[in-house]
Amino acid sequence: MELPNIISWIAIITLAGSYWFQIYKIHVHKEVRDLSMTYHVLLALGFGILIFTAFVEDSTIFLVKQIATFIPVLIIIGQIKYHDKDHWHSKNDPLCSRCNTENEPDWHYCPTCGQMN
Ligand SMILES: [Zn+2]
Repeated sequence: MELPNIISWIAIITLAGSYWFQIYKIHVHKEVRDLSMTYHVLLALGFGILIFTAFVEDSTIFLVKQIATFIPVLIIIGQIKYHDKDHWHSKNDPLCSRCNTENEPDWHYCPTCGQMN
């Protein structure tokens, strides 16, 4: 195998691996409020279309890359749906005196009800 080919396979492993680290982080923290559903749906759509292109062009490396990134993005979309109602919880965070919402320690106003804490 030639060097450009080896580097390309390493890049595919790196790219696909990056999504699996995201999946692991979501799995551990169950926090998805900062993740954009639109971004991931468009990513999956683009990767999905390019799977077809790679298949038509008969390019093994391109096909593997598209499938190896398409699948984890689908899993992330599933995680965003599954953890939609979950919220990050830290027992050190103060609760709002009016509405009992968990605030961050450095917040002066509650984002839910506007109470000054
Ligand atoms: Zn409040």
